[in-house]
Amino acid sequence: MFDFLSKKFSSVFSRLTGKGALTEKNIQEALEKVRDALLEADVPQKLVQEFIQSIQKEVVGQKVTASLKPGEQFIKVVHERLLHFLGGDQSGINFSFQIPSTVMVMGLQGSGKTTTLAKLAHFIKKEAKNRSKDRKILFGSVDFYRPAAIDQLELLAKQVGVDFYRSSSTDPVAAAQEISAHACEGRYEIVFLDTAGRLHVDNQMLKELQEVDSVFRPKYKLLVLDAMTGQESLNVAEAFAQTVNFHSVILTKMDSDSRGGAAFAFRYALKKPILFVGTGEKVDEIERFRPERMADRILGMGDVLSLIEKAEEKIKQEEHESVMRSFRKGKFTLQDFADQMGMVGRLGSFSKLVKFIPGMGNVSPDMLQKGEQDMKRFKAIISSMTPKERLNPRILNGSRKSRIAKGSGVRVADVNVLLLRFEQSQQFAKLFKRFGRF
Ligand code: GDP
Repeated sequence: MFDFLSKKFSSVFSRLTGKGALTEKNIQEALEKVRDALLEADVPQKLVQEFIQSIQKEVVGQKVTASLKPGEQFIKVVHERLLHFLGGDQSGINFSFQIPSTVMVMGLQGSGKTTTLAKLAHFIKKEAKNRSKDRKILFGSVDFYRPAAIDQLELLAKQVGVDFYRSSSTDPVAAAQEISAHACEGRYEIVFLDTAGRLHVDNQMLKELQEVDSVFRPKYKLLVLDAMTGQESLNVAEAFAQTVNFHSVILTKMDSDSRGGAAFAFRYALKKPILFVGTGEKVDEIERFRPERMADRILGMGDVLSLIEKAEEKIKQEEHESVMRSFRKGKFTLQDFADQMGMVGRLGSFSKLVKFIPGMGNVSPDMLQKGEQDMKRFKAIISSMTPKERLNPRILNGSRKSRIAKGSGVRVADVNVLLLRFEQSQQFAKLFKRFGRF
């Protein structure tokens, strides 16, 4: 996801960072590229216009601050603006469902509604388990439109270990009442209600949802939007907002090659929070939506925080603390670089994680295999260095390099490639520091 935007922005910025001064001409050139990237990413024209103007206003005539290079300053402004567009009031950031609550999940057919219900329940149960608790959750469905939708939900309920109730009525309104009564009786803490979608926005669907809403009276109405549908998802969200209305959004299929436009446009136009993003078909493939991380990712800075969060579950505390420390200090050593690659190695799928590593966001799928080999080679090279060399790679002269190359079974050119990559990562660490992150 967002790879497309990310790729475009990275090329603009890497050219800008190389330049000594930010002139009117290269600002214009960079803005053109930003505009093209957004349009190609399916962001509506009007929105692109507003976005570009807001950057222009800030950048042109701005004094370059002493601590930032002009290109870095431009990135900072674009980053902040992007964050504003993606995050707005950021009200969704620390969201958690109140107990007790009722949740109605809506969306077009195929958007990932039913799957999302299971993911949310799994997420809630996992969070509760971390606090040595459990949650009593019930699933019910009023989706009588799609054959087998209810059976699918029943299976998912079993899979994530929550209760399921099948109503005797097949009328959506009567069924919603039945489910609600059953939930009260059983003293459930959270009740999720799956609803029927259609292939396109459809008045009958919206009317039915309004009726179900009026008897079920959910605390939360969540709209599931498929990120792959691009601009169209904005129209869907608007239709729902004008009729049933909703509390917040979950964007699914963010793991696809979908263009970033959906999240970008939606969040800005409707001012409703995006709570979660779906990142795969499995029940644990859901994450909280983090505008800040998303903006970093779009700008090709790598989603270091996401990587670290994933790592937390599997990796020893001290290891990641040392990486965090070095990022905070803006000092990123070869040892940290090796540790970070070590984390990735243990986290499984390289292809999923490569985009999180600063400076590696541009790797294309066919380069992934090569990337994996590179990573093994890099680790071997770093382990052939002395501790002193790892801390201060500047001392690596010709004879040291050829000793290391021999020791790790590679060519001197490979050692140089590693140093180049490392330098790139180091620059990102410095950027993070300058922007006052962490
Ligand atoms: P519904 O009709 O809205 O209930 O949609 P489903 O929950 O049945 O999902 C439709 C398809 O999308 C299924 O094949 C899901 O596995 C898939 N799906 C749902 N969420 C995601 C996601 O975040 N990523 C990917 N790759 N697939 C998803």
